[in-house]
Amino acid sequence: MNAAPRASDEIISFDPATGKEVGRVTVTSPEEVKAAVARGREAFQEWRKTSFAERKRLVMAAREVILAETDDIAHLISDESGKPFGEAISMEIAPVLDLMQFFAKKAQKLLAPKRIGIGLYALLGRSSKIVYHPLGVVGIIPAWNYPFSIPLGEAVMSVMAGNTVVIKPSELTPFVGLKIGEIFEKAGFPANVVQVVTGAGETGAALVEAAPDKIMFTGSVATGKRIAAAAAKNLTSTVLELGGKDPMIVFDDANLELAAGAAVWGAFCNSGQSCSSVERLYVQEGAAADLTRKIVEKTRQLKQGVGDTEDISIGAMSSERQLKIVEDHVEDFRRAGAKIEIGGRGKGLFYEPTVITDATNEMRAMRDETFGPTLPIATFKTEEEAIRLANDSEFGLTASVWTRDYAKGKRVAQQIEAGSVCVNEVLYTHGIGTTPWGGFKNSGRGRTHGTEGLLELVQPQHIHVNRIAVLPDAWWMPYSSKAVATFRKMTRTFSSGSLIKTVPLIPQLLIRIRELFKAK
Ligand code: NDP
Repeated sequence: MNAAPRASDEIISFDPATGKEVGRVTVTSPEEVKAAVARGREAFQEWRKTSFAERKRLVMAAREVILAETDDIAHLISDESGKPFGEAISMEIAPVLDLMQFFAKKAQKLLAPKRIGIGLYALLGRSSKIVYHPLGVVGIIPAWNYPFSIPLGEAVMSVMAGNTVVIKPSELTPFVGLKIGEIFEKAGFPANVVQVVTGAGETGAALVEAAPDKIMFTGSVATGKRIAAAAAKNLTSTVLELGGKDPMIVFDDANLELAAGAAVWGAFCNSGQSCSSVERLYVQEGAAADLTRKIVEKTRQLKQGVGDTEDISIGAMSSERQLKIVEDHVEDFRRAGAKIEIGGRGKGLFYEPTVITDATNEMRAMRDETFGPTLPIATFKTEEEAIRLANDSEFGLTASVWTRDYAKGKRVAQQIEAGSVCVNEVLYTHGIGTTPWGGFKNSGRGRTHGTEGLLELVQPQHIHVNRIAVLPDAWWMPYSSKAVATFRKMTRTFSSGSLIKTVPLIPQLLIRIRELFKAK
């Protein structure tokens, strides 16, 4: 449905909730994609010279454009993705506005030149600092599930670091992608600093082929591997934000009312189509009945429907392909002996929020990413078992631990193999732009957001200065037996990093340096 029946040179975007056409866009040809990257590279030569103050002014102007058009943008996001209008504001627009103000104000400080310690080399009159240079053109290839906040956030971080950007939105959400380009244009960004090309997977492949200086990719593991392989041909580095099968662990001492609310939101927001949605819930045996009852009650209260009404909590799935995966996984749970407590049916592109009990890690649907509104619940007895079950996955994007014992919460969190682990919170930290985001294991490589994410968008340059440039270094040529004796002694003195151990080397160093002088 939303997977666009299309003529070869155009994409038709549909509202998955109503089946209505949102509009048509032209597919950017591979030659045009290449030309866009070339234009971005040319624009980079000027853009890289702009001050942080100027970049900040423009990004803050882009925020104003968004604030003036919030409702229209939220309706567009809802129309193209099927998510509720309110959720488009709370989970996409509000967090990205926060990210924009943060990086607009703080990028200069985060990317300021930094002196770094060089230990005993400093005693030889040397110093080192790191300066950060932009990379050039950043290619951004996002998924359809957060079509506004993810590419826009990455674009803002890229331009604040001095790069230019080419975005290829998903074929399911091209108009949201084009809206991002329009926002930068209305804010007054110079031409070609942010460009948007449209098309399906082939257009994304053409962007990788056009050899930008970095690829920021969000999507499935399979496509991530293809992109990494294609990017390697040009040694283009990639940040890969991939799938998840995120566990939520609830101990019997947790606030179960809160945990139930978090599980419902964490599993069902965006119809479960969040990379960090709760895909597996492990509850300690003593609390299982109580927690399940609360979750089922809360699920029963949720209204599902077309996302443009304000009291709708669950919208449509984004595509038929996605819906089929959900149906297949629920069927797998049924066949394997799990119990459907509520939900379990689809109508059109709407799939009911579904709570499943008696799940175990042996079931296929507890291992493969579902990316839909399902909440399978399994039980555990001990802390060790909970950690083992949570880590029993190829993925490691996020996780959450629920307990009133904070020491236990933090202890368990650190043993979970995931890029972000919350204690008594769930899913939302992608919305905190100041914190790093990225996965362990098959959930990805590299980071977006936070200082770590900003550093993905620059190349560090080491500037090393010798302020006492009057003597040759002991390790210079020509070599001799005195030289080798000095080198040998260096391994146990200078190389220890200890000043006390290095003092006895000084006479030998002086002899060696005199030898070098004589050799002139
Ligand atoms: P896909 O991997 O199918 O697509 C992602 C993007 O890549 C789309 O823009 C797609 O274009 C494009 N693309 C497809 N093939 C190629 C190719 N050969 N070369 C270049 N680009 C290509 O992912 P989905 O759209 O199905 O997204 C869902 C996945 O994204 C889930 O696994 C989810 O967990 C993950 N995700 C991860 C996040 C994270 O932060 N870790 C956040 C959000 C989602 P098109 O759509 O036009 O085909």
